[in-house]
Amino acid sequence: CGIVGYVGKRNSQDVLIEGLKKLEYRGYDSAGVAVYTEQGLEVKKSQGRLAILESKLGEAPLRGTIGIGHTRWATHGKPSDVNSHPHTDNSQKFSVVHNGIIENYIALKEELAAKGHVFVSETDTEVISHLIASLYDGDIVKAVQQAVKRMTGAFALGVLTEYEPDKLVAVRLASPLIIGVGEGENFIGSDIPAILEYTRNVYILNDGEMALLTREGVELMTIEGNFISREIFHVDWDI
Ligand code: GLU
Repeated sequence: CGIVGYVGKRNSQDVLIEGLKKLEYRGYDSAGVAVYTEQGLEVKKSQGRLAILESKLGEAPLRGTIGIGHTRWATHGKPSDVNSHPHTDNSQKFSVVHNGIIENYIALKEELAAKGHVFVSETDTEVISHLIASLYDGDIVKAVQQAVKRMTGAFALGVLTEYEPDKLVAVRLASPLIIGVGEGENFIGSDIPAILEYTRNVYILNDGEMALLTREGVELMTIEGNFISREIFHVDWDI
């Protein structure tokens, strides 16, 4: 029910956890993060309070400067460690956080299973990571655009791939998502409070829009791939 993402120079797990704490008011049953570390994309997730995830990360920190985080409000599949986000594909090279519902996930799951994909969770979300992996051809933005065309429902997504470890892709369709613009660092969040500690410069994504975030900047585009130019919204209030 909450999404946070970070690319920059800071230790991303701290930014993700602090951001998720600011989204706790939305309610959740599980929490998790994926961080690109020296070992590749690493995921830590757990049913229950953020404090449980935080203590896991305290014992064995994920060191890296790009990551995505999630608090889950289960819609498909009971609250459990395995059903928590982020979700990955079988190669473990792609990682996805998702708010919302993928209405046609059963059809997509059957199609991907027939191609050899093995699913480990009961969630609708897991099909997204497999779908993106199956469509990937060296360009994560294109793969996400193609995947989104196949999906119906409501979603906000944060996507990472180990193949392009400096890129964070965000998509919005009928689930809120905002982009925080910093200096040498950029953010995504379900809501402004998640990132307000770090920047007051924000892009509000509209339905059918997506963003590519790197340390250097943010590109906004439609899910059809048309680039968008938008004025930055300056947040002048405090939490
Ligand atoms: N439908 C997804 C799930 O059940 C996402 C739920 C959410 O928005 O937190 O895992």
